[in-house]
Amino acid sequence: MSIIRVTNLSKTFAGQQALHSVGMEVQQGQMVALLGPSGSGKSTLLRHLSGLITGDRHDDSHIELLGRTIQKQGRLAADIRRSRSDIGYIFQQFNLVNRLTVLENVLIGALGATPFWRTCCGWFTQEQKQQAMQALTRVSMASFAHQRVSTLSGGQQQRVAIARALMQKAKVILADEPIASLDPESARIVMETLLDINQKDGITVVVTLHQVDYALRYCQRVIALRQGHVFYDGESAHLAREQIEHLYRGVNRVNV
Ligand code: ADP
Ligand code: MG
Repeated sequence: MSIIRVTNLSKTFAGQQALHSVGMEVQQGQMVALLGPSGSGKSTLLRHLSGLITGDRHDDSHIELLGRTIQKQGRLAADIRRSRSDIGYIFQQFNLVNRLTVLENVLIGALGATPFWRTCCGWFTQEQKQQAMQALTRVSMASFAHQRVSTLSGGQQQRVAIARALMQKAKVILADEPIASLDPESARIVMETLLDINQKDGITVVVTLHQVDYALRYCQRVIALRQGHVFYDGESAHLAREQIEHLYRGVNRVNV
């Protein structure tokens, strides 16, 4: 089943076109790398998928998530709010609440399913707290539950962000450069955690990466962007060395 469908998406920022008639489809349960050099349009495409930004108005663009229209011809669909709870978004800079504990940050993932009057006084049920602990166990962070987030390393914070997405019962995880600020060992653990929840929980993962080697190692499928165009879409194993070289030609950061 197709979980994400994008057709004819273009995006212009102040006269500069960042995406050119992009089309892509992601099947349920896939783990897909959005690959490309810096400035190729990866983050812009990912932000469209969660309705954070809208495409150009004059195009006949269409974005669908789980069969529901998210945006059409540069306009957000009316029921975008219902789709947002299906999406767990993971950022390069973690975006956790520093002064809260690890457990409290994971419980934030349950806010959408909690009555407003209870969220006002931070009142979560025992069952929700147990679920949050289970989510932390899944990412091997249970022993940090009562520590403040500000005391954690970058890789640990990223695993907490993944636990928050599990708590939210997200069906899709959109991760924007989740390993860009991490050392190689932490990056490996975060990618393995994403792969693990993709394989065991069946959560679809779309992850933007600028490093080719991580995309090839962890993602079965690669969608590569070059200057806002889809340059390659297929099995990562079939991405030829010449294609990788072409993708990064004229770009300083070759990381193969
Ligand atoms: P990537 O994530 O692959 O590095 P981006 O999607 O961030 O690339 O950017 C693609 C292009 O769009 C770049 O040329 C960038 O400068 C431009 N761009 C992205 N976001 C904005 C914005 N909010 N305002 C103006 N230009 C932007
Ligand atoms: Mg980016």
